[in-house]
Amino acid sequence: MQELAQRNQPFLASTLFLAYIGYMNRKAEQLGVMGGTFNPIHHGHLIAARSAFEQLHLDRLLLMPNARSPLRMDEDLVDSLDRLEMVRLAVEQEPGLEACGLETRREGASFLIETLDDLQKRHPDAQVTFLMGVDSLETFDRWKEVERIVEIAKIVVLPRPGSEAIAALAALEARAPRLKGKVQYLQDGPQIEISATDIRERLKAGQSIRYLVPEAVEVYLKRNTPC
Ligand code: ATP
Repeated sequence: MQELAQRNQPFLASTLFLAYIGYMNRKAEQLGVMGGTFNPIHHGHLIAARSAFEQLHLDRLLLMPNARSPLRMDEDLVDSLDRLEMVRLAVEQEPGLEACGLETRREGASFLIETLDDLQKRHPDAQVTFLMGVDSLETFDRWKEVERIVEIAKIVVLPRPGSEAIAALAALEARAPRLKGKVQYLQDGPQIEISATDIRERLKAGQSIRYLVPEAVEVYLKRNTPC
């Protein structure tokens, strides 16, 4: 018995060593986060989300409606729980995409750095990628603790028809050289110009929103829009 153990010692040692290397090199979970008001969620969001999910090889992508955008505090918003519920309905059948209520559960303005700190506590091994729209580039350098944001998370800008992402990125880097190279731009993938503003206007005018939002969201909106 002792002899057998001695003979297998090198094998055991190398197995343990390989297991240790495997543990050290274990792939961090690739966790994407797409923020926004989602007032309401529409197919433009979903097309951009799915495309980013595939191109960035994400394991999960959380769609996270904010309670309030710190730089748009005067905005007239539908209740955050309704917006979250519509996101939930929209991604119910979507593998890898999930609705996340982390920001809607917090009071007041939704600061990204607080969300990232929260996510790190919940998913200490995950590599977080934050997806944002081109519009966010205009203010990104003024976001709370932006240097720490780019340390904790990869920041990727989603393409959107009609928006000049490359120029906006260059303008950001000129304003804030400390952010040079810290924000990537996702160039490929299908794009469609649908906006939540347009959907809200159509609803107000009694026009159809069919094909602009998932069917379950359309039903939810019709049920909850006063006539
Ligand atoms: P609103 O019209 O109310 O400003 P929105 O349609 O731009 O809303 P948001 O909730 O502000 O939607 O968007 C969340 C994120 O999704 C933002 O980063 C935004 O740039 C991005 N986004 C929204 N619509 C599209 C679209 N059609 N294609 C790509 N990205 C989009």
